[in-house]
Amino acid sequence: MTVVNSVSDDQKITPEIVNAMSVDVEEYFQVSAFSAGIDSRDWDTLSSRIEQNMETLFTLFDDHNVKCTFFTLGWVADRHKKLTRQIVDAGHELASHGYEHQRATTQTSEEFRSDVRRTKDILENAAGVQVSGFRAASFSFDTSNPWTHEVLAEEGYDYSSSVYPVRHDHYGVPNAPRFTYEPAGRKGAIEIPLSTVRFSRWNFPCAGGGYFRLLPYAVSRWAIRNIHQSDARPAIFYFHPWEIDADQPRVYKPGLKTRFRHYVNIETMKDKLDRVLTDFAWGRVDEVFCTKKDDPL
Ligand SMILES: [Zn+2]
Repeated sequence: MTVVNSVSDDQKITPEIVNAMSVDVEEYFQVSAFSAGIDSRDWDTLSSRIEQNMETLFTLFDDHNVKCTFFTLGWVADRHKKLTRQIVDAGHELASHGYEHQRATTQTSEEFRSDVRRTKDILENAAGVQVSGFRAASFSFDTSNPWTHEVLAEEGYDYSSSVYPVRHDHYGVPNAPRFTYEPAGRKGAIEIPLSTVRFSRWNFPCAGGGYFRLLPYAVSRWAIRNIHQSDARPAIFYFHPWEIDADQPRVYKPGLKTRFRHYVNIETMKDKLDRVLTDFAWGRVDEVFCTKKDDPL
């Protein structure tokens, strides 16, 4: 864990915990919640927004002097090699989000192995650095696929950030450890679970994404401070490039719940990110949790 000195509200110099910032690099039409209505074979016919959204994010992170981790789809890296190199050239960590956003819960161990191997190759060939981090589509590591961390380690990954210790209708392992752990009884990649705040006997999600858009900013700020004060640990935060893109084409009309989750407060997301980047210290996942950085191939 890294701490830096900073000036707090009362102007005293206090040690500040450095948190991990991450972005899941995928197009607006690749989210799991749209998969019922958009076939992955049609993805190439839809207009791409990833380069312009990533440009906005590079500028945002530059303005705050923040380096972060980009969990990138192999499908995106295949079509945007320059963008993939740009991530590394700007000092960020390039990591894997699988090839085409298939949930690990829908794959056999051999399908999962071939997916993470293929994606690692594509990313490493595009950017010329080793890729050591992985995040499963839709946080799809759960009790049904306990082999995932072992396969990741065998394929050369050091860590995963794919478990969300919450109760949710699409994902979540409510009883999973809240902080970095080695999967029990197995040699495998370490797991860095998405951040939660403990309240009574329950874990509440506070790692970004839809909850960050939905809730008032003050709630998220309180939750991150609570992790620092109660647990003395860094938080890990995530969001997607499409979450700052209010003008993204409406290519699919999902049900009300999915529509709400995808678009709620999308217009104010960039301002909220600006605040969270100002109020807390941030770094790459590998540097915050693994003290490791860009090994050449
Ligand atoms: Zn994703």
